[in-house]
Amino acid sequence: MAGSELWWIVILNGFGVVVMLFLYLRNQWSMNDLKKTEKMAEQGVEETDVLLKDLEEKKAKDDALLNSLGEGIVVTDQDGNVELINKTAEKLVGWKLDEVVGKKWFNVAPLVDNKGIQILPENRATQRVLKLGQPIYSDKYNYVRRDGTRFPVATTASPVVFGGKIIGVIAVFRDVTHEKEVDQAKSEFVSLASHQLRTPLSAIKWFVEMLLAGDAGPLNPEQTEFATNIAVSNQRMVDLVTSLLNISRIESGRIIINPVPTDLGKLVAEVADGLKKKIGDKKLKLAISVLPGLPLINIDPKLVSQVYMNLLTNSIKYTPDGGEIMVTISRKNEVVESAVSDNGVGIPKEAQKRVFEKFFRAPNAVKMETDGTGLGLYLAKSVVESSGGKIWFESGDGKGTTFKFDLPLSGMVPKEGEVTLS
Ligand code: ADP
Repeated sequence: MAGSELWWIVILNGFGVVVMLFLYLRNQWSMNDLKKTEKMAEQGVEETDVLLKDLEEKKAKDDALLNSLGEGIVVTDQDGNVELINKTAEKLVGWKLDEVVGKKWFNVAPLVDNKGIQILPENRATQRVLKLGQPIYSDKYNYVRRDGTRFPVATTASPVVFGGKIIGVIAVFRDVTHEKEVDQAKSEFVSLASHQLRTPLSAIKWFVEMLLAGDAGPLNPEQTEFATNIAVSNQRMVDLVTSLLNISRIESGRIIINPVPTDLGKLVAEVADGLKKKIGDKKLKLAISVLPGLPLINIDPKLVSQVYMNLLTNSIKYTPDGGEIMVTISRKNEVVESAVSDNGVGIPKEAQKRVFEKFFRAPNAVKMETDGTGLGLYLAKSVVESSGGKIWFESGDGKGTTFKFDLPLSGMVPKEGEVTLS
């Protein structure tokens, strides 16, 4: 063989080895890649397993949480169809989850008022939330159980919002039978106690008046002073007992609403006339302005005059001597609005959300006027609301106060009851 041929053979063989080596290495790399991918896939499966386990664990915890709550929970979609109820809800309404899923909650658990009249779906908290998009609390009605029995319920319904859209409602509800019974017992106690207290208080009043009138012989100045103090304190007690009695009457729902066509301007003037002495003693200026041509309104004068009386008495009490009080009666669309304003001490910001609470008195009011029960506004609010109106105020510390309330122009709805206000 010639030398050059031998070289060729060596070169070609060398090339072949390089190609083989390249192919071998590429194969190895691919194998590695494949193994890596396999490993990653295995890892992925493991991770998914862990995730699933995590989710299952979380779900088990959520289920335990939902079912251990003392409150019933119902979740509905945006059409009011049940998606979920917890165990307490099952017990309260008597239906099992799988029997109600996909059904309208308002059909599953009908709501009735105390007379047994069914509440329309659109007036129920769960449906109103879908419309308003805000949480709603309601404790006025009763749920009807599967077996037809009822229980008073307190519900907080909140919207479920996703991507800016309301996609359903979560309602948390509980049976408030016990609270209602305690409330009722309290009201009955207050009613009974105040009723029983009125007789001896009236007797004291009569006898002190007789003493002061000299019916038992003339009194010396010291005796007159003592008897006058007894009369004043006794009157305070009479006022307190009367307020308590009126509140228990309103709360019991037994109050009679007897609307008659009434001239509100005349009514407020009569109330102001009864307060003439107090107004004069403090040298206050009182102005009354009534919209000319205001029609007669069908209201219960006894109830509404109590509202004017309480608001005016407050303005008198909480306005320093020489101050000004103004009553305005006007018409706003379908309501008659009354406003009682004064330039008195005002209601400090931190006290404002409590003024309608029973027995609440703001510190500046207590300082200015020791006399007071903290019941006047509560009573006024109860009367206005039971007459279909609303009451609110604007005030600031030292900036005077304006209380406003409105009543429907159409008047109050008559109600047959058992008692009137004292
Ligand atoms: P009372 O006058 O017996 O304290 P109310 O229920 O009538 O009870 O009023 C509750 C509280 O609201 C008062 O104690 C006072 O702090 C505040 N308030 C009501 N009306 C006025 C007013 N016109 N000016 C200032 N504070 C007022």
